[in-house]
Amino acid sequence: MKLITTVSELSQALQPLWQKGIQLGFVPTMGALHEGHLSLVDRAARENEKVVVSIFVNPSQFNDPEDLKNYPRTIERDMQLLSGVRCDCLFYPPAEEVYPEPDSRQFNFGVLEQVMEGRFRPGHFNGVAQVVSRLFDIVKPSKAYFGLKDFQQYSIIRSMTSRLGLPVEIVPCRTVREADGLAKSSRNALLSPEHREAAPLIYQALLEARAGASLYSPAEVKRRALERINTNPLLQAEYFEIVDDTTLQPVTEWPSAGKVVACTAVFAGKIRLIDNIEFD
Ligand code: AMP
Repeated sequence: MKLITTVSELSQALQPLWQKGIQLGFVPTMGALHEGHLSLVDRAARENEKVVVSIFVNPSQFNDPEDLKNYPRTIERDMQLLSGVRCDCLFYPPAEEVYPEPDSRQFNFGVLEQVMEGRFRPGHFNGVAQVVSRLFDIVKPSKAYFGLKDFQQYSIIRSMTSRLGLPVEIVPCRTVREADGLAKSSRNALLSPEHREAAPLIYQALLEARAGASLYSPAEVKRRALERINTNPLLQAEYFEIVDDTTLQPVTEWPSAGKVVACTAVFAGKIRLIDNIEFD
C-alpha cells in the first residue's frame, strides 16, 4: 500500500490508471478505522482493479468544535488495518492539500437536508458535500463506497453526484454491527463502559420499531421507540424519525409501495450515535 499525502503525488500515481481507464474504487473515511470501514474497502477491492482509501478529518463538516477536537485519530493503527485488506493507496492529506483556498461553496439539498441530521447539525451536509466533491475531483474514481449507517449522508451524496453530473457510481454498503447489535462507529471508542453497555438499546429499539409496524401507526411506532430509548437514563434520544427512503420526509401512514427507514440519533452521555433500519 502506497501512502500519499499530497494532491500532486496522488495525481502522478493515478494518471496511468486514468489513462488506461482502469476501474478505480474509492472509500472516503475520517479514519479511526473499524470493520465497517474495512467492509467498504473489501467490497471496493472485489468490484475494482485498484482501490484508494482516504483518511481526512474534515473540519468543515463538524458543527461542534469539541466533537472535532475529540474525534479519534489513530493513523498508525489505521495503516496496520489497511495493510490487512486490499488497499492500493492511502491518501492522508493535511487540510491545506484538500482546501488550498477556503471553500465557500454553498450546496442546496432542499428538503433532504432540512430533516434529522440536517436539522440538528446545521452546516454538516454542506461540509460533507464540499469534501466529498473535492475528493472526487482529486481521485476521479469509477465507483465510491458509502455506508448505509449514515443513511442521510448517502442520500445527500447520491443527490449531489447526480445534480453535478459527476461520472462516479455511488455504491451503498450495509451497516456492520457489533455482536450485541450496536452499529460500529469510530465514536464508540469514546463511550464510557457504562454508556457502551447501554448503547445496544438503540438497535433493539429500531428492531422493535420495525416489528411494531404491522401493529401501530408510524406516529405510535415513533412514540414507543423514543420512550424505549429514553427508559435508560444513560441514553437520550435527539430524534427518531420514520421517513420515505427517497425523499427523507416523515411518513404519516405506511405506504403501500416503496420503503421507509427509521433513523435515530441518541446521546450516550456526550457521545452522539446515529443508526437506522429499513422497513419493507
Ligand atoms: P466515517 O469515517 O465515519 O466518515 O465513515 C466513512 C465511511 O464508512 C462512511 O461511508 C460511513 O457510512 C461508513 N461506515 C461507518 N460506519 C460503518 C458501519 N458500521 N458499517 C458500514 N459502513 C460504515
